[in-house]
Amino acid sequence: MRSSEFLITTHKETPADAEIISHRLMLRAGLIRKLSSGLYTWMPMGLKVLRKVERVVREEMDAAGALELAMSMVQPAELWEESGRWEQYGPELLRIQDRHNRDFCLGPTHEEVITDIVRNEISSYKQLPLNLYQIQNKVRDEIRPRFGVMRAREFLMKDAYSFHPDQSSLETTYQVMHRAYTKVFERLGLDFRPVMADSGSIGGNTSHEFHVLADSGEDAIAFSDGSDYAANVERAETLDQSDQRPAPSRELNRIATPGVKTIADLCEAQQLPANSTAKTLLVEAAEGGLVALVIRGDHELNTVKAEKHPLVASPLRMATEEEAKAACGAGFGSIGPVGLSIPVVADYSAAACADFCCGANSPDEHFEGANWDRDISDYATADLRSVMSGDPSPDGSGTLQIRRGIEVGHIFQLGTKYSEAMNAKVLDENGRNVTLSMGCYGIGVSRIVAAAIEQNNDERGIIWPSAMAPFQLAIVPLNMHKSAAVAEAAEALHTQCQEQGIEVLMDDRNERPGVKFADMELLGIPHRIVIGDRSLAEGEIEYQGRRDAESQRVPLADAMGFIA
Ligand code: ATP
Ligand code: MG
Ligand code: MG
Ligand code: MG
Repeated sequence: MRSSEFLITTHKETPADAEIISHRLMLRAGLIRKLSSGLYTWMPMGLKVLRKVERVVREEMDAAGALELAMSMVQPAELWEESGRWEQYGPELLRIQDRHNRDFCLGPTHEEVITDIVRNEISSYKQLPLNLYQIQNKVRDEIRPRFGVMRAREFLMKDAYSFHPDQSSLETTYQVMHRAYTKVFERLGLDFRPVMADSGSIGGNTSHEFHVLADSGEDAIAFSDGSDYAANVERAETLDQSDQRPAPSRELNRIATPGVKTIADLCEAQQLPANSTAKTLLVEAAEGGLVALVIRGDHELNTVKAEKHPLVASPLRMATEEEAKAACGAGFGSIGPVGLSIPVVADYSAAACADFCCGANSPDEHFEGANWDRDISDYATADLRSVMSGDPSPDGSGTLQIRRGIEVGHIFQLGTKYSEAMNAKVLDENGRNVTLSMGCYGIGVSRIVAAAIEQNNDERGIIWPSAMAPFQLAIVPLNMHKSAAVAEAAEALHTQCQEQGIEVLMDDRNERPGVKFADMELLGIPHRIVIGDRSLAEGEIEYQGRRDAESQRVPLADAMGFIA
């Protein structure tokens, strides 16, 4: 490929509104362009990367025995009413009406559609187990789309759904998928951790998330330095409680959200208005789903348990202000961002936002007299039961480390949640009707692109892991438009690469060398060969790997050996 025939749309300037490095670099490298909040165009260069990730995912799904299909992104409301999620899912579900005023949604996930397919097409245990997947754009009306494609409103997901006559068959496929996910993230060259997750209100019992480790990650994960124990923090806290371990301090609050010490910090971290009162936070909670609401008297004041509260039908469906008021009366509500474990309890009937009540803990252990700018650590110790670095691991070996992660994959044993609600049954070997067991398995294909950049970059730009690079090799001919020798050598090398199937980008633009070098580095192409008159006179080219500090002279004849 020649640069002159490709579309390179790099920028020098750092985009002002992009907060994290991957978002900045994706914009500067011209991989994506913003259309509207949380909506992006994948430019040709970015799409090449996205397709690379997609291909690895597809290959591993195929190898794991999953079958690809393609479901409509537009889904009829009737199916969601059957499962109960038309009511439960909340405002993240983008609902639309057709010209006949019939209700539809744009699929955020496809449990209903796939269960409908399977109940119609599968009648016997002999056709099971069955694992079906697709790679498709999903739509979620995220309350706070941010970080570019990391948390977008339309994003590419691989979603798979498996169906089984019984639990043991489900467990077998779950293990196969766990291994397939590990393969995917290994092949992509990412530093990742599978962690136990709480399946919460999604149903079922067993669940794992796959996290790419990065300080910018929105999630906190806990893992032991002395064993294989690894869990997301919500899950670790659940285990914590059943273990009845002594209550640790609230250090996690600061670890989980760097820089968050006060409630004012929390508002900033969560991009909530600085003058938020407890009441406006509750309204935000009701509208969006980043925070969980717990009602006093529930006795289960952590965010995981909150998801199971009848008012909070799913992690993304929060109580409305009316519901909250009705349930709280003049009492207390407890709010905290899911996954951040910073519960805030506030008497939101109070008009002013000073000296309110704060601190999610046991009933009647709320802190009085909290103020926005007061350091949380000032408050009297209370039983918050957050996990923190240095805690003993719940499995008894080693101590816990808390790190931040980006959730790139999530697998669930759903059990019969959807099949029961939607009456999906088959005949077993004894001719009896049994309700299907089900698993579901997601990978955030587009989020992976951003996550990879978070882990692989330097001051010059992106450094792609080989499996994701849009091109493996950049050929930069110097003065090509004047030097026949350079042009000839570059063309020959370009042809040779193409013949050998090496993805090559020859920068034949009539630009200054500095511009070309900067662009090829920003774009993160793993290998670069510079061809100039001076070295060529000695039969040499200059090779530099993207992570190398300096270039090295290599005989032109050996150039291919450096790349292959
Ligand atoms: P998150 O906790 O980040 O909101 P989720 O738990 O809601 O993600 P799942 O329902 O588990 O997401 O979906 C499967 C995968 O899809 C996630 O692991 C993630 O990689 C990806 N994903 C989810 N929401 C988004 C989004 N808004 N933008 C990009 N990728 C997303
Ligand atoms: Mg989500
Ligand atoms: Mg999640
Ligand atoms: Mg998830």
